Amino acid sequence: MKIMQNNEYYIWAAGTYGRRLINFIRDNAPALKITAFIDNDTKKQGTTYQNLPVISWAEAKPNVPRTKIIISLSLPTQVRDFLLNDGYKENIDFYSEFTFLPRFFWTTEKRIVTPNVLIFTNNSCVCSCDGCYAYIPYVKKPFVSSMESFKNTADLMFKHFDKCLNINIVGGETLLNKNVADLCVYLRTNYAHKFATMNIATSGLLIPSDDEMRKFAFAKTEFSISDYTKTVKNAATNLPLLIEKCQNFGVHCYRDRQCDREVWFDLGNPYKISITDPEELKRRFNKCFKTVTSCFDGKLFGCFMQHWRWLATGISEPHGDDSFDLNQEVTEESREALFKILSYQPELGYHTGCAHCNGTFTPYLNS
Ligand code: SF4
Ligand code: SF4
Repeated sequence: MKIMQNNEYYIWAAGTYGRRLINFIRDNAPALKITAFIDNDTKKQGTTYQNLPVISWAEAKPNVPRTKIIISLSLPTQVRDFLLNDGYKENIDFYSEFTFLPRFFWTTEKRIVTPNVLIFTNNSCVCSCDGCYAYIPYVKKPFVSSMESFKNTADLMFKHFDKCLNINIVGGETLLNKNVADLCVYLRTNYAHKFATMNIATSGLLIPSDDEMRKFAFAKTEFSISDYTKTVKNAATNLPLLIEKCQNFGVHCYRDRQCDREVWFDLGNPYKISITDPEELKRRFNKCFKTVTSCFDGKLFGCFMQHWRWLATGISEPHGDDSFDLNQEVTEESREALFKILSYQPELGYHTGCAHCNGTFTPYLNS
């Protein structure tokens, strides 16, 4: 696959992910030409965002694929499927930022750049969602990461990464781990030169203390708040309180997707294998929109679902390039191996976790 530095690109869409991406590109690949944002929101079309025009798909289409597209959304599946149905080719005419960034920086500069990496905090929660994507209903041994373990994870990650766009700190309910604010301070103090943005993901049900908020503000941590107001008691009361507190302390916050059960995931039973045929597993892996790698406890997993499954069940049957041992020394070989994982090119053509993961990381309509 060729990624040409002299291509022009659109970013789809003009939101939080697009803001992070354009700023990262301006700081780290200024020669890369981004000409506009594409957005379906008619209120945004005709405006500018991050000093670039926001245009509709109808305006952009005549220039595609000469101008290529980087999809910049937390759930890029629907736009990806729309473009595939329109005859465009993934990783040729369009990319997600998750596949684009590692490949672009490796191909052009041999740099290890990861778009979005998760750090785990704990696997318990204040909610009890069925289909929980931290596999909490299946957890055998709950864990809460210690500060020492957090520091170790951060140090190991940045021993291997040249740069990271965003660090996404997640649970379970992230704020149940009382070391999280200190982790953010540690990352900002020691590795600000290695990453662009950092956020914690929370259900919006817990309100951090003033002391924690001061640390989040110092560390420039953003709050990504899942919106459970339609389904969880207390969410409608607590979410506005959390937003107000973020504003009072100068912490940037935004509502992530609406968790209203109309769109959810089917990640399967982590103990059961649902597919064994290698060709079907490859199809499943290719259909899945790989979004994030994750780091914890000396390991980096190519797919965070596989990592969560391992944490919940303790069962691990990793094939060679499902995961990466962060404790190893940095060598030419280790960098090649890490690039393969970050760019979602496992040797088998799928991750072993795909055999358990029912619906792939693809939203389905919950009737
Ligand atoms: S809020 Fe998230 S982590 Fe908590 S139970 Fe629901 S899906 Fe799981
Ligand atoms: S384990 Fe699931 S989420 Fe991960 S790559 Fe496979 S199908 Fe996608």
